[in-house]
Amino acid sequence: MTPSKRVVKNFAEENFTMSVEARQETRGFQAEVQQLLDLMIHSLYSNREIFLRELISNASDAADKLRFEALKDDSLYEEDADLRIRVEYDKKQHTLSVIDNGIGMTREEVIENLGTIAKSGTQEFFKSLTGDESKDARLIGQFGVGFYSVFIVADKVEVQSRRAGAPRHEGVRWVSEGKGEYTVETIDRPKRGTRITLYLRKGEDEFLDGLRLRGIIRRYSDHIPLPILMAAEGEDAKGEETVNKATALWTLNKKDIKEDEYNEFYKHVAHDFEPPMATLHNKVEGKLEYTSLLFIPSRAPFDLWDRQQRHGIKLYVKRVFIMDDAEQLIPSYLRFVRGIVDSNDLPLNVSREILQHNRIIDSIRSGCTKKVLNLLQDMAKDEPEKYREFWKEFGRVLKEGVIDDPERREDLARLYRFSSTHEDGPEQTVSLEDYVSRMQPDQKAIYYITADTFATAKNSPHLEVFRKKGIEVLLMTDPIDEWVTTHLNEFDGKPLQSVTRGELDLEAKPDDETSSKKVEETDESLADLAERIKTILGDKVKAVRSSRRLTSSPACLVADQHDMGLNLERILKASGQKVLGSIPILEINPDHPVIKQLIEMEEGDSFSDWSNILFEQALLSEGGQLEDPTGFVQRLNRMFLRLSNLGTE
Ligand code: ADP
Repeated sequence: MTPSKRVVKNFAEENFTMSVEARQETRGFQAEVQQLLDLMIHSLYSNREIFLRELISNASDAADKLRFEALKDDSLYEEDADLRIRVEYDKKQHTLSVIDNGIGMTREEVIENLGTIAKSGTQEFFKSLTGDESKDARLIGQFGVGFYSVFIVADKVEVQSRRAGAPRHEGVRWVSEGKGEYTVETIDRPKRGTRITLYLRKGEDEFLDGLRLRGIIRRYSDHIPLPILMAAEGEDAKGEETVNKATALWTLNKKDIKEDEYNEFYKHVAHDFEPPMATLHNKVEGKLEYTSLLFIPSRAPFDLWDRQQRHGIKLYVKRVFIMDDAEQLIPSYLRFVRGIVDSNDLPLNVSREILQHNRIIDSIRSGCTKKVLNLLQDMAKDEPEKYREFWKEFGRVLKEGVIDDPERREDLARLYRFSSTHEDGPEQTVSLEDYVSRMQPDQKAIYYITADTFATAKNSPHLEVFRKKGIEVLLMTDPIDEWVTTHLNEFDGKPLQSVTRGELDLEAKPDDETSSKKVEETDESLADLAERIKTILGDKVKAVRSSRRLTSSPACLVADQHDMGLNLERILKASGQKVLGSIPILEINPDHPVIKQLIEMEEGDSFSDWSNILFEQALLSEGGQLEDPTGFVQRLNRMFLRLSNLGTE
């Protein structure tokens, strides 16, 4: 035997043993799956009929996927291009089955799809669970329930599947009781597609009733554009009948569609089980013809912050499904929008590559974006409470728009909400228009502060002078705000100005006169003090100067107008980026008793400790981290000892 032949033989033997072993195996669920299952059974029990909608949605997605793949290779239809879903029940066996002739799954896909949760952010989701069932029940909606909802009503589930185009001996059977384990085995399966059989729990007989099942199907799945068949029932009933209307909802006239129908359609496309916050149905005619049916969900999905997250718009061409998650149809900052777009102009064999530089797609995208932003604008005006909810859920994502979409900067900025010194709580409710309408007659800029928490922003020494003068400051505490403020330089002709950056040019008001006189008197000694502190602090600060920002704090840190702010620097460092830190300026408050005492103080250990502590406390009140916390603590203790005369100089 030549060496190469031996290799071939070994390979064949290996494959053979593998396939025998692979015939049946028992595997454990990913730990999270079990946790999810338990949680779901508890939290969704009262609404358990939705399992059928989930199965039908999956079956309909499977049909869509087959259509998409068959565009390139129509042998995948295996001479059965009539896509449909069938629902069967068997009273004797106590089973209910949902059968589709869609794309089907290979053995690997079954293991991957039904044994693990392959979603980014899963870990974070499970960390966010509290153990309090009623609270967690709300979270499960954000996660999406899908296939696993079968275990709410079934104590055993069997899935049989074969992928379209695969040989019949590559079918697969998956069986699980939803208790930590499942088995998979390779089977012979002549039919492509998937059959899911639920062995119903005791007491779930209502799902063995034709009338009840028809009711559920019509309620949740009337307008999915795929027929759902059941055996005809009643006297002299024969054969099968289509239970749902199977007309694509978006092709109907708006006035003929009930809110309920929109809501159910949304739950189907979005795999959500709460109704949407808003619905947008729009038909465009003329040079370009398309229909869009878009929804804003009531709640943000848990992985919304992931910019790679799939986009939730399905593309149809002339009512034929083309592809899922067509990200070119909506900009990333609107990635929470769900729904469909049905174009009359695109070719049926359109591919993802074609979509990338396509004028038709660009106009659809621009049209949809405009519609969504207008809807939000109207909501903000007419239903402020609802808009507040919207902002809480999706505001942070919408803020990406000012960076991604310069053309719509002004429109987007109008939609933004911030917290501000004008309001008490951290909730973001103040619009830039509100702010501008409250600006003082001589106020030139829109002032803001960025910090990593609301408390740090609200209590920042930088706000002291603004409070005194009654000038509002926006408190920005989302990490993305740093980017928002670098891209949004002005609003309504007014520049945005950070209160922690550059020299403040607040007009002196009459009530400042006394204090500014005092400043002049002590000018020289103050300049001298600034120099002495600078000598002690060395390279830690760019300069030390007298401040016009402070009323009650002795000192604060300021970034030069064009330097990176301390907050941004921290965010970048936290995200693992190398940052060439900019060096801050220390501003001291000439009216503060500590500063007054320092003017008198001789150089020495005490002066040196004070200088350092001034710098360190300013850094701490910014939410910054001390480079040498132990040194800081030692300095503090030395000072306490000096104060109580116990220490020695
Ligand atoms: P989701 O639908 O949200 O992705 P599910 O838990 O419902 O989550 O389903 C997991 C995956 O299993 C689906 O994404 C799909 O790939 C696969 N799947 C489920 N049902 C079917 C089916 N009837 N035919 C083909 N694939 C399916």
